[in-house]
Amino acid sequence: MTAPQAPVPTAQTPALARRLVIAVDGPAASGKGTLARRLARHYGLPHLDTGLLYRMVALAMLDAGLRLDDAEAAAATAAGFDQGAFEEARLRGRAIGEAASVVAAIPEVRQALIARQRDFAAAGPGAVLDGRDIGTVICPQATVKLFVTASPEIRAERRHRELAGRGETTPYAAILDDIRRRDARDSGRGTAPLRMADDAVLLDTSALGIEEAFAAARAIVEGRRAA
Ligand code: C5P
Repeated sequence: MTAPQAPVPTAQTPALARRLVIAVDGPAASGKGTLARRLARHYGLPHLDTGLLYRMVALAMLDAGLRLDDAEAAAATAAGFDQGAFEEARLRGRAIGEAASVVAAIPEVRQALIARQRDFAAAGPGAVLDGRDIGTVICPQATVKLFVTASPEIRAERRHRELAGRGETTPYAAILDDIRRRDARDSGRGTAPLRMADDAVLLDTSALGIEEAFAAARAIVEGRRAA
């Protein structure tokens, strides 16, 4: 007599069917962070802002007096930093965003950060992750993939307001330059460039307020879940 077989998990298995992983990618200041946070709250899921991980690596290197283009030092830093050791206000500053995009172009840094992100996505009832390569590299099997974008000018305006709100006064033109330079670096790098996944849904927030963008994002998630 053959032993009873354990049921093979399928997408219809309740525990798996309930898991919801939402990947939110897009360029700097597109509104993806705000949307990801709102979606996470709405669906009761944990949220990971993966840009913060790259910012932590950059800040740890700067604090240690290391050069950002030292690939070996960057890889070693990315392999062993403590996520709780950084002050959020410093991490979110303009200079650290720029520094993060430099270390993010180093393949060994990206490799060292994959496990932290995938472990986060695999735990619990699901997760919302936002970044540049969530739908393409980190969670290619995500339930829903959003690619959030807006024109560079609108993004620069938003970033300008956000930085001003935190007391960092920078001319609009300098912020627009930052955004264009970061877009070029993030899209042009060889490893995991910023790119919309083939199965992602594009959400252009240029003409949308926060509530409208959130409603549109929720409609996309619900549409995918229903499908
Ligand atoms: O999203 P945020 O602006 O905080 O990201 C800072 C930088 O980190 C980005 O410009 C990008 O170079 C890098 N990044 C990345 N992949 C991610 C998240 C962020 O390359 N998943």
